[in-house]
Amino acid sequence: QGPEELLGLNKFSVDEEKAHIVIDKVICAKCQDKPCLVVCPAVLYTLKDGEINFDYAGCLECGTCRVMCKNKGITKWVYPRGTFGIAFRYG
Ligand code: SF4
Repeated sequence: QGPEELLGLNKFSVDEEKAHIVIDKVICAKCQDKPCLVVCPAVLYTLKDGEINFDYAGCLECGTCRVMCKNKGITKWVYPRGTFGIAFRYG
């Protein structure tokens, strides 16, 4: 089994009302490196017409983007509230 197949086993409960990660697109637009594009294992950061797009649904809650963003482009990073977020399944 490849990593994609294993990721597919995980279950997400998406909090449609409250984003647990919020980015500042103005800051992101000025960021030269945009490490988020390559470090997120779930590829939730994408570039569209030169602008960073981010979708918090599917987040693995690994925290990598928070660590790698050096320009404070991520203005909020918390774990999803209550029962929301990812439920990891192994095997
Ligand atoms: Fe991607 Fe991990 Fe950041 Fe979630 S916490 S958006 S999976 S890098």
